[in-house]
Amino acid sequence: MVSRVIPVDPFDLVIFGGTGDLARRKILPGLFRRFLAGQMPPSSRIIGAARSDMDAEGYRGMIREAIAEFGGDERDQSDQIEAFLTRLEYVAIDAMGDGGWADLAELMQRDVVRAFYFSVAPSLFGALAERLHVHKIAGPQARIVVEKPFGRDLDTARELNQTLAEHFDESQIYRIDHYLGKETVQNLMAVRFGNMLFEPLWNNHYVDHIQITVAETVGVGGRGSYYDKSGAMRDMVQNHLMQLLCLIAMEPPSRFEADALRDEKLKVIRALEPVAPHHIVRGQYEARGDEPSYREDAENPKSFTESFIAMKCHIANWRWAGVPFYLRTGKKLRARSSEIAVVYKDLGHSIFEGDEARHRNILSIRLQPNEGIDMQVTIKEPGPGGMRLVDVPLDLTFAEALGESGHEISDAYERLIMDVIRGNQTLFMRGDEVEAAWRWTDPLIEGWEARNDVPKLYEPGSSGPEDALMLMHRDGRRWREIKG
Ligand code: NAD
Repeated sequence: MVSRVIPVDPFDLVIFGGTGDLARRKILPGLFRRFLAGQMPPSSRIIGAARSDMDAEGYRGMIREAIAEFGGDERDQSDQIEAFLTRLEYVAIDAMGDGGWADLAELMQRDVVRAFYFSVAPSLFGALAERLHVHKIAGPQARIVVEKPFGRDLDTARELNQTLAEHFDESQIYRIDHYLGKETVQNLMAVRFGNMLFEPLWNNHYVDHIQITVAETVGVGGRGSYYDKSGAMRDMVQNHLMQLLCLIAMEPPSRFEADALRDEKLKVIRALEPVAPHHIVRGQYEARGDEPSYREDAENPKSFTESFIAMKCHIANWRWAGVPFYLRTGKKLRARSSEIAVVYKDLGHSIFEGDEARHRNILSIRLQPNEGIDMQVTIKEPGPGGMRLVDVPLDLTFAEALGESGHEISDAYERLIMDVIRGNQTLFMRGDEVEAAWRWTDPLIEGWEARNDVPKLYEPGSSGPEDALMLMHRDGRRWREIKG
């Protein structure tokens, strides 16, 4: 079965910060794949807008190199790359000044969707929004896309929301969390809400606990001094892990539609209980061989910032009362692996004599590597020898059955950008969600700062500090293995 490509209207997509790392590594190679898939109608264009002084030809050269460096298999299609590059324009622009704005206004086409990707530091959002308005480039139909970090606490997030709201309606603002663009995350909703089988068991009567792990193998080297002001809580938990938790825990929305879904996510965040200090474990990676320690990477010998965090959270509502949600994320861990696991309760009673293994159903949603969903079920081990039970994974992704090879699964960024062009906000965060997430996060951070909490050291290549293992062991549970 060939995957269906849904056409989009013609568009002008302006990428502020079009020469930056994110644009070259993710956005432009992703847009090239959408071009190949036939999702760039003939008059559609991508306009790079950044500080560097160059012309359209120079920009095309830069993006040719970016596709060669960061593209997948499609980077061999040189004719197609050249055809794609003809869709690119460039304007040298100063977000804080007046230079380039008249050129951009003139370049924009009429009667196409206008989208503006703010792939620049958040300190420039206000200046961009204002100039788009003053120069009459972005009217009420225009859309803007903003990147993380969306604030570093409740106050700064509020300020950003207010700044954007001066010139744009909430329905025009697309706050990206690329975790929501992942195929598997969307499939989680399809599996959960498209089958009779799961929803009746999706509660504290049947679920023992939920684990969410986002493990990385890289350290913070290269962006250490930036990361040191943020840490794992701000960089990963407040946004990505929180979004995953919301999708798992939310009530079924009445429709798969932006505000219906976002209302339900918001209710989850608001129902999150404060986390007790002894349910939070923060860590920092040590040095290994000639690899630097976190503090060396961060160029801050006295840093108390966490490169790892594990925590046990509770959601105070009828569905989840008593069900712990264990979250963990960190740098320099054993493998690059992200997974949500819904661990069901043990069977109350086993009828199989001599079967001592503790069988449990586990629904695991893997975001990376090898995106997929499977359900651990218990069956009889085939062959003679009596009733020996064995746990096996039941693949719920059926990638092969649907003819979707791993390579064809589009990247989260390109998928989300196409949603922007279609005007579909379902997989983007609403302003009140982001604020609610900070409202929950802020007191936890303030708490450990006030206590001068020192992160526990952990060995690079491990699963994090020992205390994180204890967080679950104390409850008679264990983390799932981090494996790539
Ligand atoms: P970068 O430093 O590589 O690029 C910044 C871009 O902004 C450049 O194109 C630069 O020309 C432009 N710029 C800077 N000042 C400007 C001005 N006054 N006027 C016009 N243009 C100006 O940054 P990046 O890594 O591409 O990140 C961009 C944004 O995306 C940041 O907010 C970052 O936090 C966020 N982000 C980046 C990544 C990533 O993987 N790089 C991931 C998630 C979020």
